[in-house]
Amino acid sequence: MSCIFCKIINGEIPSNKVYEDDKVLAFNDINPVAPFHVLVIPKKHYESILDIDDNDMEIIAHIHKVINKLVKEKGYDKTGFRIINNCGSDGCQEVKHIHYHVLAGKKLDWYDACK
Ligand code: 5GP
Ligand code: ZN
Repeated sequence: MSCIFCKIINGEIPSNKVYEDDKVLAFNDINPVAPFHVLVIPKKHYESILDIDDNDMEIIAHIHKVINKLVKEKGYDKTGFRIINNCGSDGCQEVKHIHYHVLAGKKLDWYDACK
């Protein structure tokens, strides 16, 4: 498997983990665009939301539960934050393993994933 996020999950590539359970991993983005920039990914490889069938869709709710916990731990529930899922070519999705960016810690400019 050549997917870099699968390699992060199996430990082949190091990462700064901020949360892990049996279904999900959250780690700091290597190129942060905000003081808090975490990626939340399912441990199962899906390229994007388009790959997730109805029976597996609870993973998306689970990812959002994890985001809820992470932002509350940091107090960003008080100040605000942004969740981004880039999807496909025009969405400027660089890594083809579904991931949710969580950005916080400053007044956020509009995030241009295509830069
Ligand atoms: P996308 O543009 O696909 O939505 O975002 C991919 C994100 O993954 C980018 O923000 C990029 O900085 C991050 N990224 C790419 N490779 C690595 C890596 O090896 N480690 C970490 N921690 N982040 C990565
Ligand atoms: Zn993967």
